[in-house]
Amino acid sequence: MSIMKIYIISSGSYGSRIVNSLAEMGLASSMVGLEELPDDLPEFIDEFEQYVPSHIPQADLILAVGLYGDINMVVPIIAQKSGAKSVIIPLHDPAQVPPGLQREIEESAPEVKIVFPKPFCALLPVGDKYIDEFAEKFGKPELEIDYNGLIRKVKVLRTAPCGSTNYIAENIEGLPVEEAELEAGNKLHNYPCNASMTTDPVVGDTILHLAGYQTKEAVKRALGFAMRSAVVDPETCEADECQHECIKHCPQVQIGWDTVKLNDKEQAVIDPASCGCCEICIKECPYGSIEMEEKKFPIE
Ligand code: SF4
Ligand code: SF4
Repeated sequence: MSIMKIYIISSGSYGSRIVNSLAEMGLASSMVGLEELPDDLPEFIDEFEQYVPSHIPQADLILAVGLYGDINMVVPIIAQKSGAKSVIIPLHDPAQVPPGLQREIEESAPEVKIVFPKPFCALLPVGDKYIDEFAEKFGKPELEIDYNGLIRKVKVLRTAPCGSTNYIAENIEGLPVEEAELEAGNKLHNYPCNASMTTDPVVGDTILHLAGYQTKEAVKRALGFAMRSAVVDPETCEADECQHECIKHCPQVQIGWDTVKLNDKEQAVIDPASCGCCEICIKECPYGSIEMEEKKFPIE
């Protein structure tokens, strides 16, 4: 089987950090090139073609990490010149590639599959050969945990591309299982995760918090239970009256997960596995129907 060829375009400290971490995690033999673009470019650029590298290797997948604003328009041009049909542009800052610019980038190369995971550790397979091959190992964290009251062994099945999942796996071993979910979130902040602490206007939460929710979800799913979750009271939920405010505002729903769904009685139900416990839905529910509960929630 041939090795996927990955060409990386990087800018700034976030870009270099991801590149180093991918190399450390065994991607070195797949990297056919690395182009570092200046990190002091203006957000709005008229003639971005001048930044297209003169030599572009043949590639299957383009990773563009840390590029900010209009300079991202070079990415589809580079993809076309390299022959790549798959592109990942991870988002770590709300202003990095706003939705209008994302559309422009996609429309400039309709034959190329471009995804914008927000954050990078929310990447899952999307039905594209090369993005999916990458996402088998890197993206939304997935763990296997052996425990007997204490966490005995943690195996990383899929790691966040920054490498934080490996760090968290090592550092939750030995903890009581009930503490693992909370501690995984704390350890991500220690790592540290480089995602932005500015609230993203599309998601309604910070991208750093979203990264924490993905990590905690991996721990909860591997253990088979959550210790905390927002819970809807079916006695008072008036979903047909309220325009589904909890669904509209849940940051996890905004990035594509089924964290809040309607049941067959058209009432909201929250999934403890992916609930990040941000409490936004509690503030937004006009009927006061949601509360935070601390108990053991089984997860299928
Ligand atoms: S929980 Fe509140 S916001 Fe959500 S559907 Fe029910 S009434 Fe609406
Ligand atoms: S607390 Fe509410 S808004 Fe926040 S992640 Fe959980 S369900 Fe979504």
